[in-house]
Amino acid sequence: MQLIDSHCHLDFAQFDHDRDEVLARCRALDINHIIIPGVRSASWDMMIKICQQPDMLHYALGLHPMFMQDHSENDIARLRDYVNRYNPVAIGEIGLDFYLKDHNKNNQINLFEQQLNIASEMQLPVILHVRKAHEHTIALLKKHTINKGIVHAFSGSLEQAHQYIKQGFLLGVGGVITYPNAHRVRRLYAELPLSNLALETDAPDMPLHGMSRDQRNSPDKIADILSQLCQLRGETGEQIANATTQNVQQLLAIDS
Ligand SMILES: [Zn+2]
Repeated sequence: MQLIDSHCHLDFAQFDHDRDEVLARCRALDINHIIIPGVRSASWDMMIKICQQPDMLHYALGLHPMFMQDHSENDIARLRDYVNRYNPVAIGEIGLDFYLKDHNKNNQINLFEQQLNIASEMQLPVILHVRKAHEHTIALLKKHTINKGIVHAFSGSLEQAHQYIKQGFLLGVGGVITYPNAHRVRRLYAELPLSNLALETDAPDMPLHGMSRDQRNSPDKIADILSQLCQLRGETGEQIANATTQNVQQLLAIDS
C-alpha cells in the first residue's frame, strides 16, 4: 500500500522543530509522497530547499488568495522565472476566496488569471483553493483551457464536483469527513467516483475530529482520513489508497 498527502504545508514554522520525525512517521505508515503547495513568494526558496533532500517531497509554486497583502507586483514575473528554473509539480496554491471578509474580488481574479496563464503556458496542473467562488472558478478554468488539477478541500455541491471532474480535476478530501456531524460533506465523498479523489491533510491546519482546535495537524493523519473514507464508502482501504495514490501520481507526473 502507498499513500500520498496531496496538500500539506510542511514548510510552515510549526514543523521546524520536528520535520524529520514527522517524515519518519509518514514513511512508517506508507505515506510515500507529500505535496507542498506555495502560498507566498517569500517562502518559495525555503520550500525548494526542504524538498531537495528526501525524494518523498514535491512542491508547487503559487500565490495564495488568502495572502493578498503579501503579494507584490513583481511576484508574477518571479513566479514565471521560478517555474522555468525549478520545475514545480503544479502551480498552486492559487484560486479565489470570496468567503474572506473585505476581499477585493477584482484583485483576486486578476492574480488568479495571471497564474492560470502561466499554468497554461507551461502545461502544468493547478492546485486550487476556492471558497464561495466555484462558479467563477470553473468559468475561468474553461476560459484558460486548464484541464488538470486538484481542488483542495473541496466542499461544494455534487453538481459543482462533477463540473470540476469534467474539467479533468481531482477533489481533495481531508479531515472534515472525520467530524460525525459533517453530514453533507460526508455524503458528498461517499458518492464521488474514486477515480477523481485525492487524500490531503492541509497540515498544520484543519485538525481532525478529536483534536483540539489549535492542535497541529500532521501529514501522518492521512491514515485516519483513509480509514474514515473506508467507513463512508464500499471500497477497502487498499483500494482507496491505491486509487488515490495513482490519481495524484498520474496528475502530477510523480514516479512511485
Ligand atoms: Zn493549503
